[in-house]
Amino acid sequence: MPQIRYDYITGVSHIQWDVTFPIKCPVCNGKANPVFSISRETASKASFLKIKKEKEEIEDWDVLVAEHPQPLVDDKYTGEWNEWPYKSEPAKGKHYVVFIGKDHVPFHELSKDKVYEALYAIQETYKKLSDLNRVIYISIIMLSADGADMEGHPHFDVIGLPFVPKVINEEMNRFVKSLEDKDTCPICEVIKAEELGSKLIYRNENWIAYYPWSPSRRNEIRITSLTHYKPISKLTQKELQDLAFLLLTSAKALHEVSGTDYTIVFHLLPPKRSVTYYHNYIQLFNIKDVTESMLNGLGIYIGNSDTEFKKIQNAYRSVLKSMVGL
Ligand SMILES: [Zn+2]
Ligand SMILES: [Zn+2]
Repeated sequence: MPQIRYDYITGVSHIQWDVTFPIKCPVCNGKANPVFSISRETASKASFLKIKKEKEEIEDWDVLVAEHPQPLVDDKYTGEWNEWPYKSEPAKGKHYVVFIGKDHVPFHELSKDKVYEALYAIQETYKKLSDLNRVIYISIIMLSADGADMEGHPHFDVIGLPFVPKVINEEMNRFVKSLEDKDTCPICEVIKAEELGSKLIYRNENWIAYYPWSPSRRNEIRITSLTHYKPISKLTQKELQDLAFLLLTSAKALHEVSGTDYTIVFHLLPPKRSVTYYHNYIQLFNIKDVTESMLNGLGIYIGNSDTEFKKIQNAYRSVLKSMVGL
């Protein structure tokens, strides 16, 4: 059963998750377990989004929120809680998937409307997960924008985790320090600096996309709200639409320069914190492998490390045998 392991040395947490990528698309294989759906309705020439929760109406959808077929975390997982030095616990939590449209296409080929619909569904899913007791952090992530996961069905993973990931934790500490030392937020300072636009990609009424002064990933783009404190649950329709446009155009540009796969990682304040010192942002960067998205975006290493260890151990034994004849 999936287990969360904490490393006292690097601070990276590892979720022992025995899946092989690409995971089969549950929607197109008729195995999806729907939670709710979003559909675009038209009334007197204006269109609006409708949330559908009843079994009979869920089927007709533009965005489908379903349970992950092999969840990374789930409340049904059981196991032991262990402490120092091998700290571990059962991977409790909730893992949803937001499927965007019915076609298998890369993220950057979706329409602006589809991305907006996805963000709307993400917002609803986020609210749903925030209410759960055990959920300490909500990870919103697209593991592979090019389709290396779920046979290319575009989707976001929305995961209610029982801990705050290393990257977020460290960023929060840095924001606190900046507040104490300089009485300001580092992202708000970047926004001010980018009025001169040295690393500016695009700015609209609510959001800014920029290239970081000191990037930490290949072809990294950061998107953030112009206002300091913008919880995802409170974004308005206009803010979501503006974000959809900026997210899509940035993804297109990233694909244009790299031609390879990339990830989209939301960096958010944990839902139950009442402090407002953190400034949410979205990070896009290139990846070579699906597992890099979570590791480089959040500091969570996913995969079957028990198998990985066995392979190394066996390889070492045969190396030793050939070198010293044991
Ligand atoms: Zn599919
Ligand atoms: Zn700020």
